[in-house]
Amino acid sequence: MPPGGYFGKALLIDLNTGSSRAEPIEEPVLRSYIGGAGLGTWLMHKYCPVGVDPLDPQAPLNFVFSPLVGTPLTTSAKFAVVAKSPLTGRLTDALASSHFAIAGKLTGHDAIVLRGACQEPSVVVIDRDGITIEPAHDLWGLPAAEAEAQLRESHGPAWRVAAIGAAGERGVRYATISHDGRHAGRGGLGAVMGSKRCKAILVRPGTKVGSADPAGVLAAARNLRQRSFGPATAKYRELGTMANLLAFNAISTLPTRNFSAPRFEGAPSLAAEEIADLKQLARNSCASCSIGCEHIYRGPNGKKTRMEYENVFALGPLCGVSDPDAVIAASSRCDELGLDTISTGGTIAWAMECVEKGLIDAPWLRFGDPEALLRAIEEIGAREGLGDLLAQGSRAASQVIGQGSGAFAAHVKGLELPGYEPRTLQAMALGLAVNARGADHNRSGAYEADLSGAHDRLAGGEPHVVGAIETENRAAVMDSLILCKFLRGVFEDPFPEWAGLLGTVTGWNVGAGELATTARRIVLAKRLFNLREGWTREEDWLPDRFLSEPLELESGRTATLTASRLEAMIDSYYRGRGLDETGVPTPATLSELSLHRLMDSEPIGAKWDSGGPNGYDDDTGHGHQERDAYDRRPRGDGPGWDDDSRRGKAARDRHPGAVS
Ligand code: SF4
Repeated sequence: MPPGGYFGKALLIDLNTGSSRAEPIEEPVLRSYIGGAGLGTWLMHKYCPVGVDPLDPQAPLNFVFSPLVGTPLTTSAKFAVVAKSPLTGRLTDALASSHFAIAGKLTGHDAIVLRGACQEPSVVVIDRDGITIEPAHDLWGLPAAEAEAQLRESHGPAWRVAAIGAAGERGVRYATISHDGRHAGRGGLGAVMGSKRCKAILVRPGTKVGSADPAGVLAAARNLRQRSFGPATAKYRELGTMANLLAFNAISTLPTRNFSAPRFEGAPSLAAEEIADLKQLARNSCASCSIGCEHIYRGPNGKKTRMEYENVFALGPLCGVSDPDAVIAASSRCDELGLDTISTGGTIAWAMECVEKGLIDAPWLRFGDPEALLRAIEEIGAREGLGDLLAQGSRAASQVIGQGSGAFAAHVKGLELPGYEPRTLQAMALGLAVNARGADHNRSGAYEADLSGAHDRLAGGEPHVVGAIETENRAAVMDSLILCKFLRGVFEDPFPEWAGLLGTVTGWNVGAGELATTARRIVLAKRLFNLREGWTREEDWLPDRFLSEPLELESGRTATLTASRLEAMIDSYYRGRGLDETGVPTPATLSELSLHRLMDSEPIGAKWDSGGPNGYDDDTGHGHQERDAYDRRPRGDGPGWDDDSRRGKAARDRHPGAVS
């Protein structure tokens, strides 16, 4: 029997053949990686061929659920999508919300793993009875929301749909996967799905999942719901994350015109405080949420558009645009095409600066021009004109343009920066530099340490490193349980409280200490995945602009982040994480966190028998490459997870019942 909250299995689907099978996930794995982003990372270690191109059909695309999904715990209706990013070539894990999470899990699986590619544009239909692959030529080219509506019309309202837009079909490297207007947004997961010619996945609930202590879960849910109405979430209910815009502008951390300034003179005209009364239509919420942070605005032609700080920052100040109608229209168009607004705005802003410097010949693409912004988005979505270059993201585009343009391409590992100025938020500078996913504000919440007021945010040092590690650990647990980050403020003592919730659902006697270890394991499991894909320390870094251009602030201070200061923080971070000076986990760390098990487990390439040229034991040499790469990795002597691998069984015999 699997523990409460789990089915103890993943559904593996081979899109080449339409075949599928359920693969057990052992309880020690579930306990060690929980679900969501953590379990997704474990699945990537297991199912992703080493060195595979992210858009190769054999690259897996994982939809991962969590033990809390399906419980009445507020904000728990979330799922993770995990794959190798076509933007970064490293691990990416994005979360999305709502009914797809519940319906997907209640197909009877903790994860759905897609590999291979459909023969033609198709949709994958999954319920408890099995899977079918249906042709979907008529849906190809539609916005995700329209495809979703048509599929629910044709198949019935019990079905829930995750779909891609035209950007994913065309391989834009920062395309999204959408469900009910929410996006698994960062890292280009939509392009991975498009490379499999998969327009949409339909799931329908067909079973139930139990909790170890149903009465305890109900009591915890009531308690949490009550607390979710309190002051810790008021900001999200009242104005939503758009409230950050004026606040960040006031403290010189609102990235403007491709990070050339930390304040935007046009910020007031974009502020929710100014435009909400005129343009806001409604508030909305994900399934199973008592907060309701979504603020829906009136877009072009009356279209409903969800507005958040990140899309306003990226399509407004970052591109120098202050017209609220243009920013809402740009955001709406990104939604329709299925584009990550942060990477879209970041890449366009980089191109605008290239035009300003005479490096790209596109005189129409000027900072502050709403028409230029909208035209650039169309060209990216269509991959036409300049858009074909910009569809690769700012890192790849700057490598094509050269001439020093990489210095102001604002990305880490290829992922464009979110709306946090690293020179005025120096704990965040570290968090952005070292995160496995690249420049990201959801996997590293280090800005919280900067904004706490406890330390000088312009003078990064040891306290900032501690803050960056702590917030990264907290994010790893929240993204794996999964609970919405907007709930985080209601937990006064998070790890014991989260351990209590997990224990009530699963029946595990799990404490805060174990959960803290789990957090560290998940953070480093992501790093280990990147390491096997070729990561080196040079990738944990920020673009030159941030290290060579100090910012003069209105306060009279100068915000300077030197390379030596960043390097010192990274060195300290590595020590704090148990890494050597090259950023690789030490043998002691691998052992303490039982990560040698992850690295010792037999790659699924040897087990996933999709037959013929798509398997790994074929004569293409792929399988040998993969095994060779694994053989080069450092090894521990702990047990593997593979039930039917001799190495795994022998190891378990040596360590019966070993659980981290
Ligand atoms: S707080 Fe917002 S994002 Fe989080 S679950 Fe609720 S509606 Fe969704």
